[in-house]
Amino acid sequence: MYLTHLECPRCGREHDAGQPTNLCGCGSPLLARYDLAAVAEVLTPERFPLRPADLWRYRELLPVADPRHETTLGEGWTPLLRAPAYGAEIGIADLMVKDEGLTPTGSFKARGAAVGVSRARELGVRHIAMPTNGNAGAAWATYAARAGLGATIVMPLDAPAICRRECVAAGADLRLVDGLISDAGRLVAGLVADSGGAIFDAGTLREPYRLEGKKTMGYEIVEQLGWQVPDVIIYPTGGGVGLIGIQKALHELRELGWIEDRLPRLVAVQSTGCAPIVRAFAAGEQRARPWADAHTVAFGITVPAPLGDELILDALRDSAGTAIAVDDAEILADLRDFAAREGLLLCPEGAACLTAARHLRAGGWIRAGERVVVLNTGAGVKYPETVDVADVPVLPA
Ligand SMILES: *Cc1c(COP(=O)(O)O)cnc(C)c1O
Repeated sequence: MYLTHLECPRCGREHDAGQPTNLCGCGSPLLARYDLAAVAEVLTPERFPLRPADLWRYRELLPVADPRHETTLGEGWTPLLRAPAYGAEIGIADLMVKDEGLTPTGSFKARGAAVGVSRARELGVRHIAMPTNGNAGAAWATYAARAGLGATIVMPLDAPAICRRECVAAGADLRLVDGLISDAGRLVAGLVADSGGAIFDAGTLREPYRLEGKKTMGYEIVEQLGWQVPDVIIYPTGGGVGLIGIQKALHELRELGWIEDRLPRLVAVQSTGCAPIVRAFAAGEQRARPWADAHTVAFGITVPAPLGDELILDALRDSAGTAIAVDDAEILADLRDFAAREGLLLCPEGAACLTAARHLRAGGWIRAGERVVVLNTGAGVKYPETVDVADVPVLPA
């Protein structure tokens, strides 16, 4: 294993990676660091095509020492699909969708859960707990079951019903809260504090290894493009783990010398019903203020106060990217339009990214000829209510 330590991106303090760890003393999430020079000596990009088609192909850049601790359902290596018909309509000829809908548990949360659960198990954790908007809880409950760990999952009543069922099916201790993910977070903090160390807090960015799983989306996009980077990557941003992870992956690949210096511009997409990052980005602020009365059809990105706000805003500015909010009616219209033109039913969060792509191209921020990659973070079939079938004719039998 090439993992060396955990590093605080805010105060620079180094932490031991050999024991279960949450935040830095200063309150910031921690980042896993590797001996990349040593990785570059033993590995070259030519080796990857010979490896299994899952995220464990990037083993040297992941934090699990013993392969026996790898908890897998075959996550990763999802298709990077061309979307020429929809792309022509919105003026982006080179438009691609990375379809995370094919990931186990139907969302890219499985990447974070696979790596996070594997490392937690390796470090001796027996029981995890987390607040969730649904998909993360479903994924962590599923991988915890596979690893033999206990899981306490707290989610809002409004979270997609299927996620509730996935948690129950996996035997998790599921609690529902009549509120938002931030309310669920307070509940989890109480449970963890009262457990005397028996329960490990695996909430978004509260442990460093979920990010390591999600960063593999960045490696895959680059590898699937023949070790080239696209011009723009568009990501539906809730807690921002995927965005921070992709940025981290790109920096690691550059340090390894496997890609050129120029990196893609990253775009954070939020809903007009919950846009703390967009507001902070527009105001040039370092931190995001909590969003009041958050609500959107794109439930996975309803995060009123993301813990990683500083890291998200840094990634956007560092990459010369941007942040944009789109409204629910447009998200649902683009979801239908995309499915009819390309034959792929997106999750609402993924559809929000296409709405964003359309606006950014129309406004000239995305230029003609640029290669744009959009993340479809989950399976459209997990959200059956996004397509209205009330008008479908019923024939007499
Ligand atoms: C969780 C989630 C997101 C947001 O991911 P973050 O990494 O927390 O920003 C987007 N889409 C779907 C489908 C999700 O489940």
